[in-house]
Amino acid sequence: MDNKKLFFLSGKTYSGYAYKGTGLIVINIGAITDRLSFIAMHEFGHAFCGLDDEYLYGESKYGILYKPLTNCVHLPREDYQYNKILYGNLNNVGCSYKSLFASPKALSENPSLYYYRPSYNSIMSSYRGLVEFNVVSCGYCLAAIKGGDPKSYWPECMKLDTIR
Ligand SMILES: [Zn+2]
Repeated sequence: MDNKKLFFLSGKTYSGYAYKGTGLIVINIGAITDRLSFIAMHEFGHAFCGLDDEYLYGESKYGILYKPLTNCVHLPREDYQYNKILYGNLNNVGCSYKSLFASPKALSENPSLYYYRPSYNSIMSSYRGLVEFNVVSCGYCLAAIKGGDPKSYWPECMKLDTIR
C-alpha cells in the first residue's frame, strides 16, 4: 500500500471531493443521506486508486487531465487492451472533459483528441445508483493495494463484481 493514508474530513461546499492519488478525501457527511456509500467509494476511487471522474464537468467541454491518465484515456483501443484482450469500451466519449481543446474539424480528423471512459456508467460517473467500479478502474485499485501494472489485474477484475 506504499505510504498512502486515507483521511476523512468534513467539507461544506461539496458533498465530497478528493485529489487523485493523495489519500485525501473530504465528505460532507451532514449533507448526504442516501448517497453516503456512493460518495465515499467514489472519492476513495480518486484518492486511493488515482482515478478520474467519468462524468463531464458542467459546461466545460475542454480540459487537460493530470498525467498519467488512468481510467480516462485518448486511445481506448490501445489503452484498454491487455494481452490482446479489450477490457474497456471504445465509444464512450467524455471522461471529466469531452476532449482536449480543438476545433470541430480537428476533432473529426483526430479522434484521439477526445477523452474516453471505460464504461457508460460506473461509480466514477454521476450518481445513478451504481456502486461498482468498472474493470479498468478496478485494476488501478488493485494495483494501489498490491503494486504492479494496473492492466495486469484486469483479468482478475473481470471475475469480480465490476462493470464490464
Ligand atoms: Zn469525483
